[in-house]
Amino acid sequence: MTGLHVGIDIGGTKVLAGEVSDEGKVVRTALRRTPGRHADPQALDDAVTSALDEIAGGRAVAGVGLSVAGLVDRSGQRVRFSTHLPWQEDDTSDRLSLRWGVPVVMANDVTCAALAELRFGAGRAHEDFLLITVGTGLGGALVQGGRLMLGANGMAGEFGHTRVVPDGRDCECGLRGCLEEYASGNALVRLAGPSYDDGQSVTAAASDGDPLALQALASVGEWLGVGLAGLVGAFDPAVVLVGGGVADAGELLLKPTRRALARSVVGAGHRELPELLLAECGPPAGMIGAAHLSLSRTRH
Ligand SMILES: [Zn+2]
Repeated sequence: MTGLHVGIDIGGTKVLAGEVSDEGKVVRTALRRTPGRHADPQALDDAVTSALDEIAGGRAVAGVGLSVAGLVDRSGQRVRFSTHLPWQEDDTSDRLSLRWGVPVVMANDVTCAALAELRFGAGRAHEDFLLITVGTGLGGALVQGGRLMLGANGMAGEFGHTRVVPDGRDCECGLRGCLEEYASGNALVRLAGPSYDDGQSVTAAASDGDPLALQALASVGEWLGVGLAGLVGAFDPAVVLVGGGVADAGELLLKPTRRALARSVVGAGHRELPELLLAECGPPAGMIGAAHLSLSRTRH
């Protein structure tokens, strides 16, 4: 089938649609605001449709890939649960496919980002890697033998919601003491204090040597390293790719992460540790992966 494959990343705050070349380069994008979790699901359908229309600009669309911040079933048909979106137990793919008259495929946003890294980014050279995205929250995906590990129900990789502090902080997912509460953009802003509104401002201050901002990044890095130690023990990846907005802090984040990982992993001193690398596809990774997913599902 000829025509355009559009990738659309549906995150907690924004919808990013895009046209992506066969080489994974972003050709054009369209941005919309995401209606909140308690909005009418139809409002999110409309925002996504409007972004798709802008990208298509009247051209024929062959397929759409959706990258969704939530738990998506293995068949890619249904959003089971999302902490941020109004789609809950929602047959999203069928409904939007009917509305648009094109095939729609869907996967979790970090799964899509891992596909992008595997095909076009820092994962190209590696068969076994973990992707950790430190954005507003903390997401993960696992690639083994060059294949994404989706789990029996398509829900693997929710590393951010492993409990690291018994009776710890309440998490937006409904559990307590999740790693995400200590190693994420939200945690960074909370730790840095009230003079910062977002992760970027903390990172900028840390780069200028602000001690409080540096301390906040070190704490997030340490928790990330502790979390990674468990994952490295379980999966033994060759590399860990670190993406998401907080990864812009580079070594200010990776150095404390590396240190805590080396200290906390089982068999420390008697095993190879994975290299920690920055992910390469950047903020549009989910969108790029979703476009590629659409293309690969319909072109055989
Ligand atoms: Zn949680």
